[in-house]
Amino acid sequence: MLELLPTPPTDPLWDLTYEFGGDERPERLNLVLGVYRDQTGTTPVMAAVREAEIRLAQRSESKEYRGLSGNTAFNQSLLDLVLGPDGPGTRAAAVQTVAGSGALRLLADLIFRTRPGATVWISDPAYVNHRPILEAAGLKVRTYGWRDAEGGFDTAGVLRELADAGRDDVVLLQGSCHNPTGVDPLLDDWEALAESAVRGGWVPFVDLAYHGLGDGLEADLLATRMLAARVPEMLIAVSCSKNFGLYSDRVGCAIVLGASRQAVRHAETALQNAARTLYSMPPEHGAAVVTTILQDEGLRASWRAELDVMRGRIMANRADLTAHLGALGHTEQARSLARQRGMFSMLPLTPNQMLRLRRQYAIYGTTSGRINIAGIPAHRIPCLAQGIAAVLDT
Ligand code: PLP
Repeated sequence: MLELLPTPPTDPLWDLTYEFGGDERPERLNLVLGVYRDQTGTTPVMAAVREAEIRLAQRSESKEYRGLSGNTAFNQSLLDLVLGPDGPGTRAAAVQTVAGSGALRLLADLIFRTRPGATVWISDPAYVNHRPILEAAGLKVRTYGWRDAEGGFDTAGVLRELADAGRDDVVLLQGSCHNPTGVDPLLDDWEALAESAVRGGWVPFVDLAYHGLGDGLEADLLATRMLAARVPEMLIAVSCSKNFGLYSDRVGCAIVLGASRQAVRHAETALQNAARTLYSMPPEHGAAVVTTILQDEGLRASWRAELDVMRGRIMANRADLTAHLGALGHTEQARSLARQRGMFSMLPLTPNQMLRLRRQYAIYGTTSGRINIAGIPAHRIPCLAQGIAAVLDT
């Protein structure tokens, strides 16, 4: 059987990561994957996570199966966190998922079950796994542009393209810290997007993977909460990988907002059914950690404070890279970099220039020009700026 399998494509990001693993140059710098690294280059376990794990180990509760929606206390905590204290109440339901990717997939399955002919619009460029996840669920995918010629959010262009999205369509939007560009709509742009959704009848599908790492936790959730208050239906995929540093524990949830309580109940059951045929139930540990943190005032404060430190380091790195690029004469590139938010920035480099950056300077970003700003040790920023300037200049 297996010998009949044609050569499958490999994952370009992981291919680069493996290539990096084999690079013996001491100055090598891995800016490919989207993980936060501290000044020493490690991805830390947050203090609140460590403490929550100790408490959970001391309690040593039964590992009996949880329900079909996973950890329900976790689901409620995430609903409160994402939608805020004045959130939509019984108009919303959450199901725990295998991280943000699992939420994206379950929600894609839900769209396919309810509207098999639906088109899902994704940004161009998009998170590398958006299209594969949606297409694997059987959905049609269309793209809309994201940035204008100056590298900012293309308000007019996006609204013009989304005017073609119809009542059967779903539009995938990243709630903050757009991956891969780092370019986010301003609040006025989000208002215009909400208006477009209401007028066109399309359903917003918000992917929340980096809240807390852009302008602050509440600020990064503003757009999602505003949309939730304005549109009758909405889907939200939430990841706890980045903002809790729980990457390998695979923690997240799928949130649905509906026009009626019954519609939400049906959607919740459809999500449970989709999970049941994929992996039955999500793993408990990470969800228990997040719940322990969010339900304890002290741990919650510690988590928020550490998240702010992480965000501060990302902002400082970006500001420093901007200053160095400006000093090397690349003021336009520096200006567009300064406007970006979150873990990623898009360098204005061609695939060939990214290859040169890798070959000549041992700096690994994606072929499309994306680099992980959170992955740069501060003392390496001058070298990074020099490498970028050199490939731009020659
Ligand atoms: N959405 C976006 C935009 C992402 O960048 C990522 C991960 O990089 C995810 C979702 C999925 O994250 P995870 O499945 O690790 O929680």
